[in-house]
Amino acid sequence: MTLKTLPTREIGRRRIYRFLRWTIGRGRDRDPVHLFFCEGEEEDGTRCGADSGERADVEAAREWTFTHLRDRQDHRSFGQLIYVPLVMVPEEEPP
Ligand SMILES: [Zn+2]
Repeated sequence: MTLKTLPTREIGRRRIYRFLRWTIGRGRDRDPVHLFFCEGEEEDGTRCGADSGERADVEAAREWTFTHLRDRQDHRSFGQLIYVPLVMVPEEEPP
């Protein structure tokens, strides 16, 4: 069978969507959230897992690491998670 002999039939209606350029940026309607957590280990090898709790103020969250170190001077490894709200914005609004 060649292309010329292929049967033709209508398969639904074609919908045309406009191509839009999108950019990603900060979502101003929500606040970032910061969380620091301890990666230190107890003497038996279990992970400490203590954390600062979710804080809008990064300095307050970071300060928790110093408080934790004061209490547990053998816990010196920490991690930080940051939630940054984002939003996609078209170059121009679709009609
Ligand atoms: Zn710890």
